Amino acid sequence: MNGINLLSPQQAEQVIRSRLTCSPIESLPLMQCVGATLREDIVAERDLPPFDRVCMDGVAVDSGALGRGVRRFVVQATQAAGSPALELERSDHAIEVMTGAIMPRATDCIVPVEQYNIASGIVSLTSDAVSTPYRNVQRRGADGLAGMVMLKAGCILGPPEIAVAASAGLARVRVSSQPAFMIVSTGNELVEPGEPIAAQQVRRSNAYAVAATLRAHGFGRVGDDHVPDDEEMLRERLKLHLTTHDVVILSGGVSMGKFDFVPKVLIELGAQEVFHKVAQRPGKPMWFGVGPQAQAIFGLPGNPVSTLVCLIRYVIPAIAEAMGTRPVLHERLALASPVSFDLPLSYFLPVVIEHDAWGQPWANPRPTNGSGDYLSLAGTDGFVELPPGPNTYPKGFVASLYRW
Ligand code: AMP
Ligand code: MG
Repeated sequence: MNGINLLSPQQAEQVIRSRLTCSPIESLPLMQCVGATLREDIVAERDLPPFDRVCMDGVAVDSGALGRGVRRFVVQATQAAGSPALELERSDHAIEVMTGAIMPRATDCIVPVEQYNIASGIVSLTSDAVSTPYRNVQRRGADGLAGMVMLKAGCILGPPEIAVAASAGLARVRVSSQPAFMIVSTGNELVEPGEPIAAQQVRRSNAYAVAATLRAHGFGRVGDDHVPDDEEMLRERLKLHLTTHDVVILSGGVSMGKFDFVPKVLIELGAQEVFHKVAQRPGKPMWFGVGPQAQAIFGLPGNPVSTLVCLIRYVIPAIAEAMGTRPVLHERLALASPVSFDLPLSYFLPVVIEHDAWGQPWANPRPTNGSGDYLSLAGTDGFVELPPGPNTYPKGFVASLYRW
């Protein structure tokens, strides 16, 4: 086995990227947008804060009066958050104000409730009360100015970004529409969890792993189907899925076995094969193509470690990019112990991230017992990508990390 003439993972990634079309845009109510990719710039509706804002419960006064030695003030009125600005009539008056209120006109500072006593409509300041202009006031525009770009297209809308969009007054925002995924597992030997199982059969675990990964990455439109290794049935079902879904992820049936019909059937259905096989372990038989309506079709090898590694290494980043998400830099991590690998292939090695006594993270290798050994993956954080061997990668060798 050698990697000559096969695409490297970097080349495969580039080719996939060049063949995916950008997701359409839809306008969604803000409440439904968490995790979505923003497809418009969001600008500030007003200055932030939009007015000089009281930031302590207390009294609003004219700091000039305190400067002249005034320590007792007549309470002129009370002004709550959300009430229009009142106006101070005399500099020995005070207006009671609440956090979040607009500053009353002719006042410029707040004395907090802890620093005065109030009786019979008179505020008497305690000795520690000081006031300089704009003390306990958040000035209009201090955080940002009207018209500024607060969020750029391409960002992921997490809770803080949702708050910013709400502050811009937007009830709906333009985001990438979620692609409709169809997971198709293949294989006569596979049995659904919950069903009785015979000695020669195995559980259909890949569909669960793929669906879990998609959901964990925020993709909500995920269907799944299972097709036995029957060419005619595969043709029928894939034909249907290709008319109703944007991304089809197959597991199994892409290797060289007599019943591995997936590539042949896809081509008969009008899909274009972009590549078959990547110089990597595990996951070498991976297939990628584009359907007649530009659907993305990923034929992942059925061995459970291969399926997950290919999904994380290629499918998730490619779809995220097609949705307009700005690419993130890969985390890089040092190996905690040396690793040997003697094939001319890139090696995806599962790891557990561990921290040493100084808090430094290390990638602790957890090699599997082959690509069928999904058990070894449990408890790992992801995998590192080691460049093609033969090589011994020493302790401290720095590699890109892909988290599950
Ligand atoms: P294949 O890629 O179809 O040749 O399958 C390779 C290996 O992966 C075989 O041992 C299959 O039984 C196993 N396999 C295929 N699909 C799944 C699946 N959905 N869940 C668990 N194992 C699978
Ligand atoms: Mg199979």
